[in-house]
Amino acid sequence: MKHFIRILCLLVCMAATGMLKANASPLDSIIPTRGLAIAAPSVQKMDLFLKFIEEELAPGHFNLLILRVDWNYAYKSHPELSDPNPLTLQDVKRIAATCRKHNIRIAPQINLLGHQSWAETTYALLRVYPEFDETPHVDTKNYTGWPNPDGLYCKSYCPLHPDVHKIVFALVDELTDAFETNLFHAGMDEVFYIGDDKCPRCNGRDKAELYAGEVTKIQNHLAQQGKRLMIWGDRLIDGKTTGIGAWEASMNNTYRAIDLIPKEVFICDWHYERPEQTAVYFAMKGFDVATCPWRKPEVALKQVDDMVRFRQNSGKQMRDRFQGIIETVWSGADGFLENYYKPADSSTEISEAATIKKLIETYKTMSK
Ligand SMILES: [Zn+2]
Repeated sequence: MKHFIRILCLLVCMAATGMLKANASPLDSIIPTRGLAIAAPSVQKMDLFLKFIEEELAPGHFNLLILRVDWNYAYKSHPELSDPNPLTLQDVKRIAATCRKHNIRIAPQINLLGHQSWAETTYALLRVYPEFDETPHVDTKNYTGWPNPDGLYCKSYCPLHPDVHKIVFALVDELTDAFETNLFHAGMDEVFYIGDDKCPRCNGRDKAELYAGEVTKIQNHLAQQGKRLMIWGDRLIDGKTTGIGAWEASMNNTYRAIDLIPKEVFICDWHYERPEQTAVYFAMKGFDVATCPWRKPEVALKQVDDMVRFRQNSGKQMRDRFQGIIETVWSGADGFLENYYKPADSSTEISEAATIKKLIETYKTMSK
């Protein structure tokens, strides 16, 4: 009888695996994550965006969509934080259904901690709740371009403000539930304002600990619901020692946070000018990592080669931490779509559209 049950279990397991494999692509063992990170479209461009998923991303073997939603959603929990004319729940359900049909996972993104302003514009959270501002003495209206005397790139919220998480976690929960996903991307790149000398809560504290504390708090919150955090990797790389500098790495002493955050956090390691080999660093620290190109097809293809090679040359413990490639688009989704569908030959061009087309071509070739 015991033997019979064992065989039965084996058969059930095989059937389950078979069912999973029915949806799997042969690419999954070569390069498991093939993502695109892009802003959510406007309501007006929804149809074109869905067409792009259906006709480009899905046949191009993309299987992850990181969608920068931020304030472009009609939040029921905090309607005061929604931009005018935002995506509705119905819009989000259409995106979710299209992605589900093609086995594309979704990670909606709200920029947490940093990126709370851009140039002269302060975004919804600090506009509505100015008390969360890490640097209230800096007025975005005085922004004069980069560099500037205030060191203003983007505003941050204060991670130690006692009321900030109640609000942002309500948004995170609502958005991930709307997209019916267990992935959430919190951005957290290029945080220049952290542990400010004038912040009564943060001044004098260790910036790595402040950064790690915020990452840990968000990951722990998500984990309670069986969800997982993704972040950009730049704050975890030592910009001085590596020579990678202040943007793609950290020059404000946050990098030691790499040893302080939960290993479940998925790292999106962006490098746009050179195929830096930092994915190895993250994998050796125990993190799942994807390398993120931008608009140089030549760099992106080298990064694909590197990722494949890292996997081939690693033992089983390390191999699966090298998760793949996540292409990034930083122009607005609407403008990007317009460029993408322009008829001009863009095979040698430096652009987001050209890079995606090259990646699609590469994935198609690799899947044969
Ligand atoms: Zn603070």
